[in-house]
Amino acid sequence: MLLRARFELKSEAQIRAMRASGLIVSNILDDLCDRARPGVTTRELDERAREMIAAAGAVSSFLGYGEHFGVPPFPAVTCISVNDRIVHGIPDDVPLAAGDIASIDFGVEKDGWHGDSARTVLVGQVSERARALSEATREALWTGIATLKVGRRIGDVGHAISESLKKSGGNFSVVRQFVGHGIGSQMHMDPDVPNFGRPGKGPRIEAGMCLAIEPIISAGSPVGVTLDDEWTVVTRDHSLAAHWEHTVAITKQGLWVLTAADGGEAELRARGVPFAPV
Ligand code: MG
Ligand code: MG
Repeated sequence: MLLRARFELKSEAQIRAMRASGLIVSNILDDLCDRARPGVTTRELDERAREMIAAAGAVSSFLGYGEHFGVPPFPAVTCISVNDRIVHGIPDDVPLAAGDIASIDFGVEKDGWHGDSARTVLVGQVSERARALSEATREALWTGIATLKVGRRIGDVGHAISESLKKSGGNFSVVRQFVGHGIGSQMHMDPDVPNFGRPGKGPRIEAGMCLAIEPIISAGSPVGVTLDDEWTVVTRDHSLAAHWEHTVAITKQGLWVLTAADGGEAELRARGVPFAPV
């Protein structure tokens, strides 16, 4: 009997192919975040993303997603979740307004490999609470990334993320129903990477794994409720939510943040973690 690997482990050549899709994601997110200003609709951002995907010779990872899971196929190439929307917001004709926060989640496939990343954008002048929420979520993301290391466990990552959030002092909550994930030849693969966990527990992190780390955080209730469109999830108490995500490759030498323009070099070095492009 053949023993099959539990998780898809990538060769160096495959990780380089994933870097190509990750850079497309990073470039397009740069553009969308720049355009996310008062008066712009999320549908306009989605249309811009469609043009840029085509120009890059890539394919959306999101458009049509879900058709095999008994939900309507996702109708857009971005998920844009404004204010109390947590994740899976469908772009629409409502203009962004100063004071909004908009989480843009975006993924593409190029040559069979996926990249997945999300950022929360502050639109115009936002409240101190909104800024603190986004900043705590971004910090939790990088703390989680910095925990990735061959031989550690997935529970170490989730624990680090939730501890980072506690340290922010904002009384923010992990929305536990959404988790990070393995990524590669498909967008969502094993293992799940929860944003909470027990140190030393869960699957062992192996060289060649690629993981999407994505803290999804509420400023109030941690419970999400799905709207009638069967996609958009809002906080039960309508408090604000934030979402930051990167796709990361783990090798024996260290980490390469595939969806960060600099590969994660600056943040990893600041945290004493080996930056290891392959
Ligand atoms: Mg995503
Ligand atoms: Mg993801």
